[in-house]
Amino acid sequence: MKESKSQSIEFDADMLKKYDTFGPRYTSYPTALQFSPAFTERDYRDELAQSNEQGNPLSLYYHIPYCESLCFYCACNKIITHTFDRATPYLEYLHKEIVMQAALVGDQRQVNQLHFGGGTPTFLSDQQLQELMLETERHFQLAPVEQREFSIEIDPRAVRENTIAMLREFGFNRVSLGVQDFDEKVQKAVNREQSIEQTQAVLDAARQSGYQSINMDLIYGLPHQTVESFDRTLATIMGMRPERLAIYSYAHMPNRVKAQNLIKAENLPDAVTKLSLLELTINRLQEAGYVYIGMDHFALPDDELVLAKEKGTLQRNFQGYSTHADTDMIGMGVTSIGKVNNAYSQNERFEKAYFKALDAGHLPVFQGYRLSADDKLRRAVIQDLMCQGVVDFKSVENQFGIDFNSYFSQELQRLLPLQEDDLVSLSAQQIRVQPFGRLLLRNIAMVFDAYQKPTKEQRFSRVI
Ligand code: SF4
Repeated sequence: MKESKSQSIEFDADMLKKYDTFGPRYTSYPTALQFSPAFTERDYRDELAQSNEQGNPLSLYYHIPYCESLCFYCACNKIITHTFDRATPYLEYLHKEIVMQAALVGDQRQVNQLHFGGGTPTFLSDQQLQELMLETERHFQLAPVEQREFSIEIDPRAVRENTIAMLREFGFNRVSLGVQDFDEKVQKAVNREQSIEQTQAVLDAARQSGYQSINMDLIYGLPHQTVESFDRTLATIMGMRPERLAIYSYAHMPNRVKAQNLIKAENLPDAVTKLSLLELTINRLQEAGYVYIGMDHFALPDDELVLAKEKGTLQRNFQGYSTHADTDMIGMGVTSIGKVNNAYSQNERFEKAYFKALDAGHLPVFQGYRLSADDKLRRAVIQDLMCQGVVDFKSVENQFGIDFNSYFSQELQRLLPLQEDDLVSLSAQQIRVQPFGRLLLRNIAMVFDAYQKPTKEQRFSRVI
């Protein structure tokens, strides 16, 4: 039995406070903290060769690190510059990496998914975007247009009139628009001034060009946000009715994210207001008919994410949630992370080192991680919790040849208090996440994480 999409979440502020700790978002398991430089280019090549034997479809990720201005809240890997020429050498190297990676893959594996992330992918000119797509087509076996799931992150402040339509011709069918908040005072405080009109114009262009799914990103917990001001932003967004919404909690970690020092802590909403912002968001979105997917993501009931959740085929990857079965992902460009066969690998984080590796004829692998049998098992359980909200013991036992109750006896014990608080329900065959528990998926998943335990130490963002 799958979770019903009609299960609505009843808000309980005291319970949220009780479980408010720091925890990973589990876009990978183990998390990037376990990655190590002991994982080398050679390991990556071995993993890719093994996965080629299975011949599964591929997903590609391109990281375009440049942005024209700094949003003070941003913890992404980005380079702030007004020098557009800076992208020229970067693209030459990215093209080199494409040639090298594609040569390792051969022409037997079809690329079904492609994602441009950043930074700001539209920092590139239309001509540069076109050349990058042509280079991709030249070297990889792209799926027929109707089977493609190609997406790009768009900053509505930095996109040209024809870009959206031009990308559609290459088979792009999903866009994700950064919005965060429409309130002017909030926008000034985070140095991201973006009008409703700019956002609406991109949305209209995407709809006119026939994009299948539009996502918008919002953030709650930003400076000067109030329940009233955020309610206005949500009302505007509901009027735009994107198919998907990602509404993140702002994690103020100025010790780890330098740019956040530009946000004055005294302007941040207090803990009570922040919880009220979350409550408001959940209520408004549920009233508007959105389904809560989990981990800050909402979608309209007929969106593929909701359908995949119901079918039990939803996946979690570095971009959040995905409808594609466990495809291998090749990440290209600085800092990008890929997942191939039984390993994660991350590219060099700085342009200079990235260029140097490619100049020497090497793949720019900086670090990575090869999963053990225990990692794979725990990853599957965490994936089931995050995506389906159900862990079925028999199916895990069949897949991994273990006895669930004895293998996870300690974890099942540790779930008992969560069951008392109605976050999960346990039976002899299943762990089922309860509606309120969907707000605390990280806490539930952490029970199965062999590396992290709930902590007050700030290595990850807060779960709320
Ligand atoms: S939020 Fe986006 S546009 Fe702003 S600095 Fe970060 S990556 Fe760049």
